[in-house]
Amino acid sequence: MNRLLFILLILIILAGCFNKSETVSDGITIFTEEENIKENFIAEEKTFIKDLYEDYSSAALISKTGEVSIVKDKFYIEGKTVYVKGKSYKDIVGIYLTENYHSITDAYQHMKEYLENDEKVMTVLLDGFSYNQFKLAQEKDYIPFLSKYFKHAALSVYTPVTNAGFAAIITGQTPSVNGVHDRSVRDMKVKSIFEYTLEKDKEAVLLEGDIKILSTEIEPLLHIDLNGDGGTDDELYESALKALEGNYDLIFIHFHGIDDRGHTFGPYHRETMEYIKLIDQYIQELSLNWDGAIILVPDHGMHETSEGGSHGICTQSDMVVPYFIKDE
Ligand SMILES: [Zn+2]
Repeated sequence: MNRLLFILLILIILAGCFNKSETVSDGITIFTEEENIKENFIAEEKTFIKDLYEDYSSAALISKTGEVSIVKDKFYIEGKTVYVKGKSYKDIVGIYLTENYHSITDAYQHMKEYLENDEKVMTVLLDGFSYNQFKLAQEKDYIPFLSKYFKHAALSVYTPVTNAGFAAIITGQTPSVNGVHDRSVRDMKVKSIFEYTLEKDKEAVLLEGDIKILSTEIEPLLHIDLNGDGGTDDELYESALKALEGNYDLIFIHFHGIDDRGHTFGPYHRETMEYIKLIDQYIQELSLNWDGAIILVPDHGMHETSEGGSHGICTQSDMVVPYFIKDE
């Protein structure tokens, strides 16, 4: 009997540990552009979305495999399955309620359209920049450039980590199609925008930090933290200024510093917000030396934790990011 009690005690302790771990999320998170409506939701009985959120008109259903399905009809949830007009969507992890659906995967199509029209395009990947951070920075008047060219909120992909977000941006596909679900995957199952530039004899450059993230069709130009300030964005910025003088049709830049500070200090910390201000100045300066289009797109967002910040779960702050285009 004592042994049974002991095992029970161990189980309770273990359960406690798992509860504390924020990455364990079993149910569905229902969210809008602005906030989570319900977290970790598992419908014990048939639950109509209208009963949870009246304003609903269309939704993006996000599955465990990273697939996104847009539904416009009334639907209900049972367990973790969503039923729409007799069709079922299993293993749903997130439901994004929006009347204005956009995705970070749109960036691929936008880049392709510019290149097809023989226009130049510069794309800046703002690692770990959430829609909530954007709104806060805008309120503080920190980001005149970003504020001017903001288009709309966009959905990241599941799981919201760099490999998956980056792959989604350059392939235009969700993880269920391009195969890049998480940090462990570097190979894409479909062609990226860089393959497109090679096929069309266009010049492209990928300016990356100190680590190669994906096996892209063109080799990234890596940067070392030469001045030892703890990041490569400043070196990358200098390198980008030089690239602008070249003859590139596509310049792809990956700034990491917002994500780094978000992890260390938290997404809304002064250090992080000040850095977002600096990134705005970098991009403003780059734009003055570039006469092509500019797309600014984060790979994923960031949520607050007791240690700072993190991302990788299906929650509004990780999944909703701002999207920007400058094309005049
Ligand atoms: Zn990160």
